[in-house]
This record gives sequence, C-alpha cells and structure tokens, in this order.
Amino acid sequence: MKRYFRIAIPVPLRREFDYLPPPDLQGNPPLPGVRIRVPFGRQTLIGILLEVVEETEVAKNRIRPVIEVLDQQPLFDSEMLQLLRWCSQYYHHPVGEVLQNALPVRLRQGAATTLKAITRWQLTDTGKVLEPESLKRASRQMALLTDLQQSRHGLFESELSDKHINWRPVMKRLQEKDWVRAVKENALPQGQGKSADHELNPAQQAAIKTVKAQSTGFASFMLEGITGSGKTEVYLQLIQHCIDSGKQALVLVPEIGLTPQLMARFQSRLDGRIAIMHSGLNDEERLQAWLHTREGSADVIIGTRSAIFSPLLRPGMIIVDEEHDLSFKQQEGFRYSARDLAVKRARDLNIPVLLGSATPSLETLYNAQQGRYQVLRLPERAGGASLPEIELLDVRSQKMPHGLSARLLQRIREHLENGSQVLLFLNRRGYAPVLMCHECGWHALCPRCDAHMTLHHHNTRLQCHHCGSEQPTPSLCPKCEAPDLLQMGFGTERIEEALNEQFANYPVLRIDRDSTRRKGSLQRMLNEINTGKPQILIGTQMLAKGHHFANVTLVAMLNADHGLYSADFRASERMGQLLLQVAGRAGREEKKGHVLVQTHHPDHPLFKPLQAHDYPAFARTLLEERQQTELPPFTHLALLRAEAIDDALPGQFLEQARTLLQQVNHHDVLLMGPFPALMERRAGRSRAQLLIQATQRGQLQTLLGAAIPLIENHKLSSKVRWSIDIDPLDMM
Ligand code: ADP
Ligand code: ZN
Ligand code: ZN
Repeated sequence: MKRYFRIAIPVPLRREFDYLPPPDLQGNPPLPGVRIRVPFGRQTLIGILLEVVEETEVAKNRIRPVIEVLDQQPLFDSEMLQLLRWCSQYYHHPVGEVLQNALPVRLRQGAATTLKAITRWQLTDTGKVLEPESLKRASRQMALLTDLQQSRHGLFESELSDKHINWRPVMKRLQEKDWVRAVKENALPQGQGKSADHELNPAQQAAIKTVKAQSTGFASFMLEGITGSGKTEVYLQLIQHCIDSGKQALVLVPEIGLTPQLMARFQSRLDGRIAIMHSGLNDEERLQAWLHTREGSADVIIGTRSAIFSPLLRPGMIIVDEEHDLSFKQQEGFRYSARDLAVKRARDLNIPVLLGSATPSLETLYNAQQGRYQVLRLPERAGGASLPEIELLDVRSQKMPHGLSARLLQRIREHLENGSQVLLFLNRRGYAPVLMCHECGWHALCPRCDAHMTLHHHNTRLQCHHCGSEQPTPSLCPKCEAPDLLQMGFGTERIEEALNEQFANYPVLRIDRDSTRRKGSLQRMLNEINTGKPQILIGTQMLAKGHHFANVTLVAMLNADHGLYSADFRASERMGQLLLQVAGRAGREEKKGHVLVQTHHPDHPLFKPLQAHDYPAFARTLLEERQQTELPPFTHLALLRAEAIDDALPGQFLEQARTLLQQVNHHDVLLMGPFPALMERRAGRSRAQLLIQATQRGQLQTLLGAAIPLIENHKLSSKVRWSIDIDPLDMM
C-alpha cells in the first residue's frame, strides 16, 4: 500500500500539498503535527504534516519526495491541528499560513525544540543581608540590589532589561563585590504565592464559587465588573485554583494591558511557574515560553493575542481580560479573533472560559443575553472606593488656545494643589495633526495616502500615521513660499508643551508610543507615577486601560466627540468603552475621583447613561440601534478587500468577485459594494471593498466556501492584493 504525506505549506494558497515520504519511513510514518522540509518550486520550505493518506490526485510523475522530517514529537497535538484546520476554514485563510502563525518564529525557521538554560541573577548570602542604603552613592547599584532583594528567586535578564537600561556593567560591579551571582537554569520564574491583602467581597466570592463549581467541563462566563471592582482578584483566585488542581491556566490580555504592574501582581500572588508571551520578547524567549507550555513546566501562560495558540499540556481554563479590546483581533494576514477562539478552544478542550471586562463588547453582551454565556457581575468598586463623578464640559464657543478650556485648567490646578495627580487623555500622538499654509491653504498631505501628515514637533518632522513615511517640516510653504505655516489641532506633544507652560511647578509626563519607544522607558514613567507625587500625565490609549494609579483624582478626556458622529458603526461603542475605561483610572483608592469630558455635544443622549456609569443601559441603547439597522451582532459580516497601485483594478476585481458570489448565492446573502475604502489611497495603493452580510453565520460560510475558490482562480485575483476578513472590526 502506497502512502502520501499531506502537508500544510506556508504559502498563500488555499490548499494542502501531497508528497512522497522518504523511503525509510514508508512503513512507519511520523505523527501528524511534525515539521517536514519539502521542495517547493525551486525553494525548500518547512511545512507541517496534516495526515498520511492512501490516495492522491497528484500525477505519479509529478509528485516529489519530502527532504526530511524534523521532529520526533509533533508540534501540534490533534486538538490543536483540528482547531487550526477549523480556523483555516472559518476565516477562509490558507492552512499553511494559519499553522505557521501559530508557531514561534524560531520553530518556523526549523529550530530544535530543546529547552535552553537561561541566565538568572540572584543574591549571594552577603548580598541578601546588605542594606541597600549603604549604596546610596551608587544609586544604580542600589536600584538593582533593591530589585533583587524584592524578588524571591532572582531576576531573568529579560526582566532586568525591562526595568534598567544598560544594567550589565552595574551588575558586574555587584558581582565583583560578591553580592550577586549568575545561575543558568532552564526553569521559569516561580511566582511568590503571597496571599491577598484583603477579604474578598460577596460579589467576588460568588463569582469565584460559580466558576469553581463548573471547572471540570466546558462553561462560558462573562464577568462584567466595573473598573476597580476587583476582577483581577477574581482571576488570580481562579488561576490559583487551576494550578492547585494540577492544570494550566491561559490568560489573554490586550497588547497594551500587559503592563509591568500587572505582571508584578501576577508574579507576587500566584504560587506557580509563569510563562509570558508578548511582542516585547525576542525570538529565543518566545520559543522557550512556548516549550515550557508544551512540556508542562509552565502553570500559567499570560500572553497577548497569539498566545491563544499555546500548546497546553494540561489545559485547565482560559481567561480573556478586557475582552472588548480590539487588539484581540489580528488585523492583517490571518485575521482571527483570539477572544472568539478562546471560547471555541475552551469548548473543544472541555474547560471553562471567562471573558472579563468593565465594558463588554456588544457581541459578548448579546451572547450573554442569548444564554450562551453565564453572567457574573461585580457591581461595586472593591475596597470601598467610590465611582468618580463624570462631568461634561461644554466647550462650544470657548477659547481654547491650547486645546484645554479655562474650566479644565482651573480644575487641574485645584487637584494638583491638593497633592493629587491628574491624567489627561487624548487619542492623538504627535504635535499637531495638520500643517496648513495661512496664505494659500496648502495642506501637508502624505504623498502615499489620503491623509494628513502629523507634525511631530520634537523631531520637527512630518509623519504619516498610516504608512509611516516621514519628511522634514518645510520652513516655507512648498506651494507659495509663504513663511506662515499654521499648526492646526492638538496632539499629545502640544498639550504637553502647554501644560509645561501653565504648570511650571509640576512635572508633566507624556506617555504615548513615541515617548515609550525605548525599552524600559514605560516602566520608568510608571515608577515615577507610583511615587504618588503630584504631577500631570498626558497620554493616549496606553494610559486608558488596566493601570492602577493610586493618587490620580482627576481624569479628563480632551475630546470625546470623534466617536459620536463617525462613518464607522462601532465608533460610539468604542467611545463609551474608552470613556468609562479612562474614567476608571480616577479615584481608585480613598480619594474621590472626578472625570471631565470636553465636548461640543453635551446634550448627546449617549452621554446620559455613561455619566450614570450605567454601561448596561448604554449598551442596550446601542444594541437596539444595531438591531434596527441590522448590524452585528444581529447579522454577520465579511469584508472582501482589494488594493492595487492601479486605481481601477481593485474595483474591477471586486465587481468580478461580486458576480461570482452572486452565482452561488442561494440564501439571499446581501452583497454591498464594491465601494472605495474610507481612506481610498494608503501607502501608495488604491483600496476598495465589498461588504457581505448574512442573518445566519452558516449562510455566510456556505457562500464564501463556494465562492472563494472561484474568486481565487479568477484572472484578476493575481493582479490585486485581496483578502477576506470574517467578523471584521475595522471597517476602514
Ligand atoms: P479590576 O481588575 O476590576 O480593575 P482590581 O482587581 O485591580 O480591579 O482591584 C482594584 C483595587 O481594589 C486593587 O487595588 C485591589 O487590590 C483592590 N481590591 C480588590 N478586591 C478587593 C477587596 N475585596 N477588598 C479590598 N480591596 C480590594
Ligand atoms: Zn502657501
Ligand atoms: Zn501615508
């Protein structure tokens, strides 16, 4: 009997490939999930064995033998292989790319699956009893020593690099004095297992009890707890329960939610070994974390989106924190939703899954209403902190030379003088979003996008936030040579400048992607905030979520209007979520918090429930709207996108795609478009899209399943870049 290897190869083709096994493995084929090196055209690629089959459609004289089998033990077990093949079908994405996406880069490149020893620095016996104060004159040595003394088992090099710039020479000095030593081990950091500082309140206890009672099989929960209600506390106890039952817990957090602060909290509270997977790791560290997960030497895996593909050896439960966060959806290539996959995977693994948020997505709320998720509620702030008052500042016809109204400036001053911190939120980095000529009206536009270039003052450059292109800021208008160029609008840099002028006696910290680019800089700023000294924080999204700043009493949203009238039907949902998340940073401990929202639409009806901290009522209004307008979660969407250098091609391709879709459309699935994308030109390419909407998920899937092979084979498909986005979140 002849056998063939059916292999997933990382190429953008929606099919599997058959090969001949190497002669020595004819009788004893490897298990599905191993890596196999194969010839592909003129290259050699690494694919994954999907199955061994007895028949193939490839002609005898065309089938080629594989080059070598790379693994003894499969990288994917059958659960994972099944999940990934399901993903490939559901998201209509090439199976080879889906599988590739689920592997650490090193493994894609063929690295061996052996755990390596990693260096950890720990104190010697003399180092342990040393008074850090005695190093007062060598402050960097003192800082390192203090950190090491606070850790129970020493610190890994990556942890040190996160917190201290250029720590190696300093460490060397400590080593010369015989206060520290380096040990090489292949173990993960062990959490310290400290107990909670407080008794859990009844709502927390009830939530924990409900989940624990159903922890031996599939069960799905939505944990809806207002900001500061102690959700993280609930996670910690459930994770510990999972560890104590000998199982692994997988915790997904948003990209920017993976703050050092949150990590420190997990490390100090959990009694177990913790693997961390996020984009800040290097390839080797990622590989090690993956291996620890697979070998079972990690009890807890905390990671961003792609951690959903962690190879769990003893799966116990999955938690998705801030489940409404957009970063759980991959926006390019294999466009999966890690949140949705968490529920799917928990079902496959027969374990519980918990989706937590103060502001759950409408999708999740709807699922809960439909009885698909059990609802757990934490309706009050833990530890007695009260919710901040949310006040709207009507800025219509107000003079705002710095983007800050006089009322706001006055309130900032009051809070600072009371010894508190103030946090200002503005979702726009850079100095000014538009540069315009006062003489002729010329605008600085990106040469490659339909978008303005943002002025970045500190490097005096113009930067496009959509394609990254940059140029020096002109000193004269390029069109009429007038010198009078107006900087219009406000970004975080400009607000920072204004604050420095207005409040010369208080430090101003700006936290955005630009100011935190250097490794360790975010941590340094967070440390600075945690000193509690009165100061002003100005930042973007990065400041909005997850942080616990004890001494922030005033939070202001500088511009809330963008979300009220937008072409994107999800904009108002996001505005509300953001407003409550930002508000959630105020008054988290004893001091009462205040929130100010600058708006030109103080009478907008959506503000009412938000001011009352009534997210459920806010969401009900939006859900009714979505139902009336037949939008998700009441219908299901897919977005077919196309782009090309040539202006006409994307539209032409999508017209053809529409015809093909219509030919196999037996359920009256709605086809809308093609339309030009909201930003028609981006990075030098013209973009268009076709929206596909169905009342039943199954109908959408059937249609796409039948049409995509036809679209793929159409001659125009090779002339454009096209993609399909299932359950799209970004409609731009
Ligand atoms: P969330 O994750 O919902 O924002 P956290 O778990 O971070 O809330 O809790 C907010 C704050 O309240 C933290 O400082 C936490 O230590 C504290 N806290 C949590 N649960 C309790 C409790 N039962 N009693 C007192 N304080 C608590
Ligand atoms: Zn001009
Ligand atoms: Zn651009």
